[in-house]
Amino acid sequence: MAKDYYSILGVDRNATRDEIKKAYKRLAKKYHPDLNKEVGSAEKFKEINEAAAVLGDDKKRSHYDQYGTADMPGFQGGAGGFDFGDLGGFAGTFDFGDIFENFFGGGMGRRRGPQRGSDLRYDLKIDLEDVYNGAEKHIDLPRIDLCSACDGTGAESKSDIKTCDECRGTGTLKRTQRTPFGLFQTQSTCRYCSGSGKTIKKVCPTCHGEGRIEKIHKIKIKIPKGIDEGSMLRMPGEGEAGEAGARSGDLYIAVSVKPHNVFERKGSDLYIEVPVSFVSVALGDEIHVPTMDGKAKLVIPSSTQSNTLFRMKGKGLPVMGRDGYGDEFVKVIVHTPINLTVKQKDILKDLAKELGEKITPPQSFLERLKEQFR
Ligand SMILES: [Zn+2]
Ligand SMILES: [Zn+2]
Repeated sequence: MAKDYYSILGVDRNATRDEIKKAYKRLAKKYHPDLNKEVGSAEKFKEINEAAAVLGDDKKRSHYDQYGTADMPGFQGGAGGFDFGDLGGFAGTFDFGDIFENFFGGGMGRRRGPQRGSDLRYDLKIDLEDVYNGAEKHIDLPRIDLCSACDGTGAESKSDIKTCDECRGTGTLKRTQRTPFGLFQTQSTCRYCSGSGKTIKKVCPTCHGEGRIEKIHKIKIKIPKGIDEGSMLRMPGEGEAGEAGARSGDLYIAVSVKPHNVFERKGSDLYIEVPVSFVSVALGDEIHVPTMDGKAKLVIPSSTQSNTLFRMKGKGLPVMGRDGYGDEFVKVIVHTPINLTVKQKDILKDLAKELGEKITPPQSFLERLKEQFR
């Protein structure tokens, strides 16, 4: 059964190439296994790529529209032509633009302009307090940047940059061929200047003509209040510099929250376990419970059972992008007293008698010894 590639990408049958491209980029970012750790996202990602590989290619698309399948004689069907293994391999950097060009590219004589910089990913661990208050974090990020000595041109001085003689600065070479069917013109990327249209006489000594160089960057990251576990913050233009002044990539900050030693987080709610004495739960009490901003009073009614969950409204975490807070849930755990004195034990025995409970406490070694010599 053939898959509906249009519904996989969420576009309609008359979608333009551009609409398909946009839909693909959006979904690929959403389900990329590096960004999305949910179960099934890898499968979904594969499906999206498969759909784009077909709908992104005019020939395959029209075949698919006509026959409902991407299997064409002479073409590799579906996603077969694209190696998804490549995607998992690159350590933290990915460029959906490039991946997409694998599907959508291939135009005749397409000029290979300077490449956009790679995207970068940085894993940032924050505290629960940062989630509660919001925070500003500073990181040292090693990244490929524009060489400041040559402004990214790769040349020692401006006068060292020459227009390529071979292609006269166009970056492409045209060739006209006479054939029995008429004149044909073919275009290819100029191999003398790699399509840049420029050649450099003397290269910049700092970057050796690369135009880019690795530097440590101090990056300021604003953590919004209530940020979700696993959030991905995008910082446009903070990735690696592009070739010869092309656009920089983006920086993705993957945020995870360190476990807290008191609270457990579930969304914007917090959970805490509080030990209380059995007298407190029996008679009722007013206790103080830790909260993110200090302490709060919690009234425990009499005859409360152990493991009862109380809700303190609005004492949880801020809800990201909205006004308002989650709740704090307090589980009271009845604490059994230890090292009771003889007098205290007698009081409890009296209580048991009063309640009509028959209790046979195990005797200690000493008590058993005394019993024998009575
Ligand atoms: Zn340089
Ligand atoms: Zn050239």
